[in-house]
Amino acid sequence: MAAISPSRLWIPIAVWRQICVQAVREWPNECLGMLVGTSSGHVRAAYELVNALAHPHRFLSEPASLFAAERRRRQEGWDLLGFYHSHPGGRPVPSHVDTDPEVNYWLDGSVVSVIVAIRSHACDSAASIREPVSELSVTATEQTPTSSGITATLGHYSLQARAFRLFPHRWEELPLALED
Ligand SMILES: [Zn+2]
Repeated sequence: MAAISPSRLWIPIAVWRQICVQAVREWPNECLGMLVGTSSGHVRAAYELVNALAHPHRFLSEPASLFAAERRRRQEGWDLLGFYHSHPGGRPVPSHVDTDPEVNYWLDGSVVSVIVAIRSHACDSAASIREPVSELSVTATEQTPTSSGITATLGHYSLQARAFRLFPHRWEELPLALED
């Protein structure tokens, strides 16, 4: 399951919306998934993966969901571009766990990680979790010169995503932008 290594990523607004909805649905735990598309770095789909740990600060791909995603990628003929995961209540940069070679033994910069910081602005976050996601709307903003990555608001939540190559104990950022 070798990934190709684009120098930047573009995410369609519809795919970004899907990732935001997933991050809200799985709040306060980390969500994760696979990003597939063209070798030039244009994401064409996000395949949701199951976080076997169901944990707010850690994730582990549940193997059956990973195999299903890889099978779907091959059937649909896309390149593997990378993976995304959320940081509930956290920042859109790699955590110490993300760049820990004891946890992520494959770290060599070959796989792109999109990290989605999600914050709740509700006074009662439990109430916002019960709110039906289908009634919320995403506002995906254009990338601005003063911020890196892409952003959205979804109900009581604000989200920001940035893309990285991960190495042991360090990371490099890639440009990440929205497209129609
Ligand atoms: Zn992380």
